[in-house]
Amino acid sequence: MHPRSQLASLGVHAKKRFGQNFLTSPHWAHTLVDTLLEEMDPVAVWEIGPGLGALTDGLLKKSPVAPRLFEIDRNLCGFLRERFPNVDLVEGDFLKWEPTEALERILVLGNLPYNVSSPIFFKLLDWKGSILRMVLTFQREFARRLVAKPTTPDYGGTSVVAQTFYELHSLGVIPPGAFYPKPEVDSEAICFEPRPDPQIDRDSFLRLVREAFSHRRKMLLKNLGQQYGKDKVLAAFEAMQISPKVRAEELSPPQFLELAERLIPTP
Ligand code: SAM
Repeated sequence: MHPRSQLASLGVHAKKRFGQNFLTSPHWAHTLVDTLLEEMDPVAVWEIGPGLGALTDGLLKKSPVAPRLFEIDRNLCGFLRERFPNVDLVEGDFLKWEPTEALERILVLGNLPYNVSSPIFFKLLDWKGSILRMVLTFQREFARRLVAKPTTPDYGGTSVVAQTFYELHSLGVIPPGAFYPKPEVDSEAICFEPRPDPQIDRDSFLRLVREAFSHRRKMLLKNLGQQYGKDKVLAAFEAMQISPKVRAEELSPPQFLELAERLIPTP
């Protein structure tokens, strides 16, 4: 059933505050589910924000393990329970959820609500060691930031973090017409394959990257000098053969990692 009729039969409207744009394109539903599952042997499969179940349906048919769903909208939870009676549904805000069991070999799927894409991305980073693959759809602007290359306008802290911890590839741009209601902007689906964890404290690395981009127009030395010591930063630049005048946007993710390894004591 089309989401418009589905919502009408439930007597509800799509809620902007929950970023609700429901996928209507079977092509994209297949692509996202198939990409997630390809050659994977998961212990758990999560879907964040199943909505009316556009992706859940395919997951249930194709996944070797039953998915766990995380949905904040109580109206939709009632509907999902009826439509998928045997599925584990976690009602509430995914951002507040904490696991009570050990996490292992998880696949994560989600057409993410635009307003909380960034916090969800960073929350998932905490569990990266247990994640096999993620296929997530974002507002195109955020997706461009994730995959951006150095010296381009979209390149920033989010790009450095995403590319340090994952191999990313875009599955393509999803036009507004693939959703109901139509969003105002394009979306883009990204597949994340976790890279091996670098030998560095993750929170310290995230802090360094945040500070590096805190004033984009200033030299990196200025942004990092106060926290890490100007002499130490200059010595790291010299060892890495980087100009003392470099700006954050000129350093690649591997260079950021090397810089962090030189400036942050190993745990
Ligand atoms: N997956 C469905 C689809 O593709 O048609 C719905 C996608 S819609 C863009 C985002 C979904 O995430 C909505 O169902 C919304 O209610 C849910 N959602 C929004 N914020 C959430 C949160 N913090 N935790 C869990 N679900 C959330």
